[in-house]
Amino acid sequence: MTCIFCQIVAGDIPAHKIYENHHAIAFLDINPVNPGHTLIVPKEHHEIFLETPPEVLYDIMDAALRIAPVVVEAVGADGFNLDLNNGEAAGQVIFHTHFHLMPRFANDGLRPWPHKSYGPGEAEGLAEKIREGLEKS
Ligand code: AMP
Ligand code: ZN
Repeated sequence: MTCIFCQIVAGDIPAHKIYENHHAIAFLDINPVNPGHTLIVPKEHHEIFLETPPEVLYDIMDAALRIAPVVVEAVGADGFNLDLNNGEAAGQVIFHTHFHLMPRFANDGLRPWPHKSYGPGEAEGLAEKIREGLEKS
């Protein structure tokens, strides 16, 4: 079964496409967080970020650099979030890698990412565990 973003890439279902390069295309999200909310996706099907080849991610980031200031200007935004949900627990609903480019307004009332605190020594131990994991990977 072809996923919905593959169908958009193929032109089989409509989308408001705004940009493409060799590996990536960008189109407006159908249910925007704010007007101008854009999805940047690989043309090939890759389910999650971790399975997306670096050269494809390069084109996605190159597209983001090109698109972001133009989208921000078009909607008069004050900034933007560039976000990726990797896996169901992270809120990924469509399993075809995609970055969300979301224009933000100073007074839009959106408050993503409430922050927590580390306990004593917790960050130190965790950083060491990650460094060890990276040495083995
Ligand atoms: P995620 O939760 O990260 O998987 O995000 C999926 C996004 O795809 C959501 O923001 C949806 O609004 C968006 N979406 C779903 N179907 C379409 C569609 N046909 N065209 C454009 N955006 C879509
Ligand atoms: Zn797909």
